[in-house]
Amino acid sequence: MKCPFCGKHNNRVMDSRLVRDMTTIRRRRGCMSCGRRFTTYEKIEEQAPMLIKRDGRREAYSREKLSKGIFVATQKRPVPVADIEAFIESLERHLQETGLNEIHTTEIGERVADFLKRVDPVAYVRFASVYRQFTSLDDFDREIRGLDFCSGSVIDDGKCGQLKQ
Ligand SMILES: [Zn+2]
Repeated sequence: MKCPFCGKHNNRVMDSRLVRDMTTIRRRRGCMSCGRRFTTYEKIEEQAPMLIKRDGRREAYSREKLSKGIFVATQKRPVPVADIEAFIESLERHLQETGLNEIHTTEIGERVADFLKRVDPVAYVRFASVYRQFTSLDDFDREIRGLDFCSGSVIDDGKCGQLKQ
Protein backbone atom coordinates (compact mmCIF):
# COMPACT_ATOMS: atom_id res chain seq x y z
CA MET A 1 0.00 0.00 0.00
CA LYS A 2 1.49 3.29 -1.16
CA CYS A 3 1.84 6.04 1.44
CA PRO A 4 -0.37 8.96 0.35
CA PHE A 5 2.17 11.46 1.71
CA CYS A 6 5.56 10.28 0.48
CA GLY A 7 4.60 7.58 -2.01
CA LYS A 8 6.83 4.92 -0.43
CA HIS A 9 5.53 1.41 -0.03
CA ASN A 10 6.94 0.35 3.30
CA ASN A 11 4.36 0.77 5.98
CA ARG A 12 2.94 -1.34 8.69
CA VAL A 13 -0.50 -2.00 10.11
CA MET A 14 -0.86 -0.43 13.55
CA ASP A 15 -4.46 -1.35 14.19
CA SER A 16 -7.28 -3.30 12.49
CA ARG A 17 -10.90 -3.23 13.38
CA LEU A 18 -14.20 -4.32 11.91
CA VAL A 19 -16.53 -1.49 11.10
CA ARG A 20 -20.05 -1.02 9.83
CA ASP A 21 -22.02 -4.23 9.51
CA MET A 22 -18.96 -6.40 10.08
CA THR A 23 -18.16 -6.40 6.38
CA THR A 24 -15.43 -3.77 6.39
CA ILE A 25 -12.02 -3.80 8.04
CA ARG A 26 -10.47 -0.45 8.86
CA ARG A 27 -6.70 -0.44 9.14
CA ARG A 28 -4.49 2.28 10.56
CA ARG A 29 -1.14 2.18 8.86
CA GLY A 30 2.10 3.87 9.74
CA CYS A 31 4.58 4.80 7.03
CA MET A 32 8.10 3.61 7.82
CA SER A 33 9.62 6.29 5.60
CA CYS A 34 7.91 9.53 6.60
CA GLY A 35 6.32 8.39 9.84
CA ARG A 36 2.85 9.61 8.92
CA ARG A 37 -0.28 7.61 9.45
CA PHE A 38 -3.14 6.83 7.14
CA THR A 39 -6.22 4.66 7.02
CA THR A 40 -7.30 1.99 4.57
CA TYR A 41 -10.55 0.11 4.30
CA GLU A 42 -10.85 -3.47 3.22
CA LYS A 43 -14.25 -4.63 2.06
CA ILE A 44 -15.67 -8.06 1.31
CA GLU A 45 -16.18 -8.25 -2.39
CA GLU A 46 -19.84 -8.44 -3.16
CA GLN A 47 -20.40 -11.03 -5.81
CA ALA A 48 -23.55 -9.96 -7.52
CA PRO A 49 -24.30 -12.79 -9.91
CA MET A 50 -25.56 -12.27 -13.43
CA LEU A 51 -29.12 -13.25 -14.07
CA ILE A 52 -29.91 -15.31 -17.12
CA LYS A 53 -33.30 -14.32 -18.37
CA ARG A 54 -35.81 -16.51 -20.13
CA ASP A 55 -34.72 -15.26 -23.54
CA GLY A 56 -31.09 -15.95 -22.70
CA ARG A 57 -30.11 -12.34 -22.18
CA ARG A 58 -28.07 -11.49 -19.11
CA GLU A 59 -28.62 -8.77 -16.60
CA ALA A 60 -26.95 -7.90 -13.28
CA TYR A 61 -28.85 -8.97 -10.19
CA SER A 62 -30.59 -5.99 -8.64
CA ARG A 63 -31.94 -6.01 -5.10
CA GLU A 64 -34.05 -3.00 -5.97
CA LYS A 65 -35.79 -4.76 -8.83
CA LEU A 66 -36.39 -7.87 -6.78
CA SER A 67 -37.87 -6.01 -3.82
CA LYS A 68 -40.02 -3.90 -6.11
CA GLY A 69 -41.53 -7.07 -7.56
CA ILE A 70 -42.24 -8.46 -4.11
CA PHE A 71 -43.69 -5.19 -2.82
CA VAL A 72 -46.05 -4.95 -5.77
CA ALA A 73 -47.29 -8.49 -5.09
CA THR A 74 -47.74 -7.83 -1.37
CA GLN A 75 -49.38 -4.42 -1.71
CA LYS A 76 -52.13 -3.94 0.89
CA ARG A 77 -51.52 -7.46 2.15
CA PRO A 78 -50.58 -8.24 5.74
CA VAL A 79 -46.98 -9.14 4.95
CA PRO A 80 -44.48 -7.41 7.24
CA VAL A 81 -41.76 -5.49 5.43
CA ALA A 82 -39.27 -7.06 7.85
CA ASP A 83 -40.24 -10.53 6.57
CA ILE A 84 -39.66 -9.45 2.99
CA GLU A 85 -36.30 -7.98 3.88
CA ALA A 86 -35.30 -11.10 5.79
CA PHE A 87 -36.26 -13.20 2.78
CA ILE A 88 -34.18 -11.07 0.42
CA GLU A 89 -31.24 -11.24 2.82
CA SER A 90 -31.42 -15.01 2.96
CA LEU A 91 -31.74 -15.24 -0.81
CA GLU A 92 -28.67 -13.06 -1.28
CA ARG A 93 -26.77 -15.08 1.29
CA HIS A 94 -27.66 -18.20 -0.64
CA LEU A 95 -26.43 -16.60 -3.87
CA GLN A 96 -23.16 -15.65 -2.18
CA GLU A 97 -22.71 -19.12 -0.73
CA THR A 98 -23.29 -20.95 -3.97
CA GLY A 99 -20.63 -18.72 -5.51
CA LEU A 100 -22.22 -19.07 -8.92
CA ASN A 101 -21.55 -16.29 -11.36
CA GLU A 102 -24.78 -16.83 -13.17
CA ILE A 103 -28.23 -17.82 -12.07
CA HIS A 104 -31.45 -18.28 -14.00
CA THR A 105 -34.17 -15.77 -13.21
CA THR A 106 -36.52 -18.73 -12.96
CA GLU A 107 -34.65 -20.01 -9.90
CA ILE A 108 -35.03 -16.68 -8.16
CA GLY A 109 -38.66 -16.52 -9.25
CA GLU A 110 -39.35 -19.95 -7.76
CA ARG A 111 -37.81 -18.92 -4.46
CA VAL A 112 -39.91 -15.77 -4.33
CA ALA A 113 -42.98 -17.82 -5.20
CA ASP A 114 -42.20 -20.30 -2.38
CA PHE A 115 -41.73 -17.48 0.08
CA LEU A 116 -45.00 -15.76 -0.87
CA LYS A 117 -46.87 -19.05 -0.82
CA ARG A 118 -45.79 -19.39 2.81
CA VAL A 119 -46.64 -15.88 3.92
CA ASP A 120 -49.67 -14.84 1.91
CA PRO A 121 -51.66 -16.79 -0.69
CA VAL A 122 -53.06 -13.67 -2.36
CA ALA A 123 -49.63 -12.15 -2.82
CA TYR A 124 -48.47 -15.50 -4.14
CA VAL A 125 -51.16 -15.67 -6.81
CA ARG A 126 -50.49 -12.07 -7.80
CA PHE A 127 -46.81 -12.77 -8.15
CA ALA A 128 -47.30 -16.08 -9.91
CA SER A 129 -49.72 -14.57 -12.41
CA VAL A 130 -47.04 -12.14 -13.54
CA TYR A 131 -44.02 -14.31 -13.03
CA ARG A 132 -45.32 -17.44 -14.69
CA GLN A 133 -46.91 -15.33 -17.39
CA PHE A 134 -50.26 -17.00 -17.31
CA THR A 135 -51.73 -16.95 -20.74
CA SER A 136 -55.29 -17.82 -19.92
CA LEU A 137 -57.79 -17.70 -17.11
CA ASP A 138 -57.58 -21.49 -16.94
CA ASP A 139 -53.99 -21.23 -15.83
CA PHE A 140 -54.94 -18.75 -13.19
CA ASP A 141 -57.80 -20.89 -11.98
CA ARG A 142 -55.61 -23.98 -11.83
CA GLU A 143 -53.05 -22.13 -9.76
CA ILE A 144 -55.69 -20.97 -7.28
CA ARG A 145 -57.15 -24.46 -6.99
CA GLY A 146 -53.66 -25.80 -6.43
CA LEU A 147 -53.32 -23.65 -3.36
CA ASP A 148 -54.23 -25.11 -0.08
CA PHE A 149 -55.69 -22.03 1.53
CA CYS A 150 -56.48 -23.76 4.77
CA SER A 151 -53.14 -25.30 5.50
CA GLY A 152 -50.63 -24.46 8.13
CA SER A 153 -50.25 -20.92 9.36
CA VAL A 154 -52.78 -19.55 6.92
CA ILE A 155 -55.71 -20.79 8.93
CA ASP A 156 -54.21 -19.59 12.21
CA ASP A 157 -54.55 -15.90 11.49
CA GLY A 158 -57.93 -16.17 9.89
CA LYS A 159 -56.85 -15.42 6.35
CA CYS A 160 -58.36 -18.66 5.16
CA GLY A 161 -61.82 -17.52 6.22
CA GLN A 162 -61.45 -14.22 4.44
CA LEU A 163 -60.41 -15.86 1.22
CA LYS A 164 -63.35 -18.21 1.14
CA GLN A 165 -65.96 -15.50 1.23
ZN1 LIG B 1 5.20 8.10 3.93
